[in-house]
Amino acid sequence: MQIKANPLRHGVPLADKKAETKDLPIEILPAPDAVAICMSQHIGKPAQPVVQVGDAVLKGQLIARADGPVSANIFSSVSGTVKAVETRRDDRGAAAQYIVVENDKENRTAFLPPLAEKTKESILERIREAGIVGLGGAAFPTYVKMTPRTPVDALIINGAECEPYLTCDYRLMCEKYDELLRGIRYLAAALGVEKIYIGIETNKPDCIERFSAEEDIVAVPLHERYPMGSEKHLIYSCTKRKVPCGKLPADAGCVVQNVATAYAVYEAVELGKPLFERVLTVSGGAVKEPRNLLVPNGTPFSYILDYCRMDETCAMVVDGGPMMGVAVADLGAVTKKATSGLLALTKTEIDGRMPTPCISCGRCAQACPMHLMPMDIDFYTQNEDYEGARDWGGVLNCIECGSCAYVCPAKRPIVQSVRLAKARLRELTGK
Ligand code: SF4
Ligand code: SF4
Repeated sequence: MQIKANPLRHGVPLADKKAETKDLPIEILPAPDAVAICMSQHIGKPAQPVVQVGDAVLKGQLIARADGPVSANIFSSVSGTVKAVETRRDDRGAAAQYIVVENDKENRTAFLPPLAEKTKESILERIREAGIVGLGGAAFPTYVKMTPRTPVDALIINGAECEPYLTCDYRLMCEKYDELLRGIRYLAAALGVEKIYIGIETNKPDCIERFSAEEDIVAVPLHERYPMGSEKHLIYSCTKRKVPCGKLPADAGCVVQNVATAYAVYEAVELGKPLFERVLTVSGGAVKEPRNLLVPNGTPFSYILDYCRMDETCAMVVDGGPMMGVAVADLGAVTKKATSGLLALTKTEIDGRMPTPCISCGRCAQACPMHLMPMDIDFYTQNEDYEGARDWGGVLNCIECGSCAYVCPAKRPIVQSVRLAKARLRELTGK
């Protein structure tokens, strides 16, 4: 079944830059000699290590347990020996605990048993056990999202993949279609809903056509306009429901899950495989061999970029897509559950101009999909008036999509201002 998307204004048209990798099948990256697995790779409390230096571990073995209701289990992505449990800084500068496992290259596994009885409760419990988090970027523990406090009647699958360059979700939809369908149906069964939508940008017509043939799934072709894949916009496009400011998708009766998350659910339910690896896209003008790779959790960025033959034309490495990703300062940083892409960009692919004063052109406000006043967020934050950024700019409703910064002729660092204001407001209010 297929319906027309409810039209959205605002956002920005972007060149999708997917041609380099969209036709490249998923390849398995040979595991590195050692992985460093982060305890804090999800929203919520860091997981607590349950192994010690010197312990032998198997691929898929629990090495850190979720700590509290909003947290996630963590598993070894290789078999080998625990070499260190230590604090490191990640590519975003945050300190976290890591478990370093030396790979014995024997690839011995320890999965959970496949789920025999697939009831609502057992699927939910399996999602929790397998440490599944949202793989679209937010890394929110999926079990928590799947047990909303308010009743929901619709599951929305995010197949938009609206960030330029990234094609890992597209490849999953192409290559793992049947498994993905089963994962989607497990998610619907766990929520107890019958309405299933999948939003897919029109640059993936083959996927739209395939999902349209399913009787129990409504395919919604989305215009190629960034950020069509943001939760609130996806919900509106599919159902015309609006999520009120400061509220969650469940308040509009919906739960949104990414296609990669649905595939991880299939693996956990049918194969007993916990989440310890994922598909990511390696692209950009400075890699000679762009790829879609299945990568073990905790693999160093430098190892992946060497494998894809990054060259000296690289001016910036980005963790994630170019709009919402972050510039990587240290290539020794490692992949996490939510790492969807690694981009090695040349000088011509990045805009290296320095910020200049705002010229009050209003383009940022025109582009903002949340109808905020990005120039005010930037102005008040630069003046250290974080309440002003909240009250006059609406910073707490910002989804950090980067559309404002993209269109700004003065190259104002609006997204950095947003992140700073949110962090300071958290400190001020304790929330
Ligand atoms: S203010 Fe936030 S939501 Fe609006 S365009 Fe900028 S980053 Fe996106
Ligand atoms: S787009 Fe840039 S220059 Fe124009 S109003 Fe917004 S912040 Fe100012």
